[in-house]
Amino acid sequence: MRIWPPEESSDVLRGARSIPPHSDQSHSIRSCSVRDRPVRLLLINPRSPESFWSFQWAMDQVLVHERALNPPLGLATLAALCPEHWTVRIVDETIEELPARPEADLVGVCAMGVQHPRQRELLAYYRQQGYDTVAGGSFASLCPEQLDGLADTVVAGEAENIWPQFCEEYEAGRPRPLYIERGSVDLLDVPVPRFDLLRMDRYETASLQFSRGCPYRCDFCDIIVMFGRKPRTKTTEQVGRELDALRGRGVTNVFFVDDNLIGNKKLARELLRSLAAYQKDHGYPFEFGTEASLNLTQDRELLELFRDAGFAWVFLGIETPDVESLKAAGKVQNTKMDLLDAVRTLYAYGIDVYAGFIVGFDNDTPEAFDRQYRFIVDAGIQVAMVGLLTAMPRTPLYERIEREGRLRHDVMPGDNTRAQTNVLPAGMSYEAMIDGYKALYHRLFSDDGIARRIDNKMRHLRQPNSLGPRHPRRLRLRMLGRLLKNGILPGGPRRWGRFLATLRRSPRLWPLVMVDWARGLSMRHYADRYLSDAPPQTENRIARAVAALQHRFTGAFERGAVTADVDHGDATPNLVVTIAGRVDDRFFRDLRRRVRTMMRDPKVSVTLRLAYLEHRQQDTVTRILEQLSRYGERFSVRLDAAMRHRLPVNPARTRIILEPSTTSP
Ligand code: SF4
Repeated sequence: MRIWPPEESSDVLRGARSIPPHSDQSHSIRSCSVRDRPVRLLLINPRSPESFWSFQWAMDQVLVHERALNPPLGLATLAALCPEHWTVRIVDETIEELPARPEADLVGVCAMGVQHPRQRELLAYYRQQGYDTVAGGSFASLCPEQLDGLADTVVAGEAENIWPQFCEEYEAGRPRPLYIERGSVDLLDVPVPRFDLLRMDRYETASLQFSRGCPYRCDFCDIIVMFGRKPRTKTTEQVGRELDALRGRGVTNVFFVDDNLIGNKKLARELLRSLAAYQKDHGYPFEFGTEASLNLTQDRELLELFRDAGFAWVFLGIETPDVESLKAAGKVQNTKMDLLDAVRTLYAYGIDVYAGFIVGFDNDTPEAFDRQYRFIVDAGIQVAMVGLLTAMPRTPLYERIEREGRLRHDVMPGDNTRAQTNVLPAGMSYEAMIDGYKALYHRLFSDDGIARRIDNKMRHLRQPNSLGPRHPRRLRLRMLGRLLKNGILPGGPRRWGRFLATLRRSPRLWPLVMVDWARGLSMRHYADRYLSDAPPQTENRIARAVAALQHRFTGAFERGAVTADVDHGDATPNLVVTIAGRVDDRFFRDLRRRVRTMMRDPKVSVTLRLAYLEHRQQDTVTRILEQLSRYGERFSVRLDAAMRHRLPVNPARTRIILEPSTTSP
């Protein structure tokens, strides 16, 4: 169950200097002086590129307040491990703007694999501003060497032991450049996370962690590499204190981010009994969700405990209905039952099922895509994350694929929901796999694919424990209106028909039907943007804009002051306009107008690379960059540290890609 965004379990920071921030001088930790006032710490969760799990369309078009799915629990835990007299602030770039010049001595940036490129940009940015920096998170835990030289300190592993050690050394002015947790942490020492530092109202679901580690040995899984195969847990009292803190913040939906909540069944039963008692004592304030291995469905007592504790959904690592592929991947626990029956068993206990699937196993041939499609539709799983087999560093799969010469070193492992992977398949060509993968997504998230799954689920999920995330009635009606206006009606008569057909079940289930349409359409939007080749009209739109610029500013193009290239690295064509010499202000205004026209096509993205800029143009260009930042991820600016210093653009609004210095004046 490695699929749901893992929570950071490790992070560490390193020492401040007594010099004020804003000073642009290179610094080394060794010259830190003993502090004469409490440390001011800023912890940053970088934004992730839009991924399958962002549900971006639903966040923008259906939900009202929420901006993201889950808060950075790892940072809240780190904050709780700080000395009491430290001043700590957490900023999550997913939901809010980053401070360009924070009141802080230290800036800590954590990251999972998908966030690593942004982590690099932010570390470079805050170091350039004179802050001490430290990097941590699950990516640093797996490959600390990749962060060498990017931050003053890199920390790998779970933080509970090394963090207090760091705080002490930091205050003594002798922090170390690298911290690695080589042992395994006893979770009995984990304090209640600082939920008070998180804007809980901006997240759809709060996060808690009961255990780390998993007893199974799936060869593609990096969870057991990071946390081991002997599950460690908190006590039920610790979990009770964390629930009290969340209840105090008005939270109602809680996701246990454990990779396998039932890794230790005996302790999981104790937890579930205490959750059921907690719910009863406090009037059932929560709905829970988590990840669990499929053997849950073979254990009647556990199923009853999940129901009684108020679990609304469980994420299962089903991976594939192909038994040979499961055996080859070492996921033998999934071969001990009928997978369709397993899913329907959970429905029978009122528990919704989210699931992860993988294509690209050695046994997979092009027929694998149709097999996955039929299974996912028959099982009625709407939140079906299909990923390409990805070799994560330090996993047995990585070593085997490398040994067999099938590892692509030009693809960064981490986000297995983009149409690329670092594994060359054995049973088909790489191109056939990518085409099959894209086609599978489009089939699953067609109106017919969404509706058939809703139907197949509602046939078995008759008494759901939950009718979707809890919201006040007024808000639910507002979200229903937004779903109909932004999602159902624009789909035309075919979608209206499929939508109405999904309402033929009991009206009591309609709220869950709406939630599934919102999820399905959100994933459809993601697939349209990232898993389909750009239609010819998109390319033509970009070509027309470039031709118009070349026509109006022929001189600038001829002398090489401006170049325009289209990069097709990602599924969305990206126009890169480079300014390498003197151009006139009219050029920037004309560019702004053409970018606005191109951006009407959701598949277009634009990067402005500024290698040269006259000082007198700085204000004009800064204003234009801020105006174009409304396109979010689709508009970015590339520049070196010196140019960055000259353009006070807010990195929280405009995507800034720092690049190595060039000789700009
Ligand atoms: S069941 Fe397998 S994939 Fe899931 S956490 Fe355990 S080892 Fe990893």
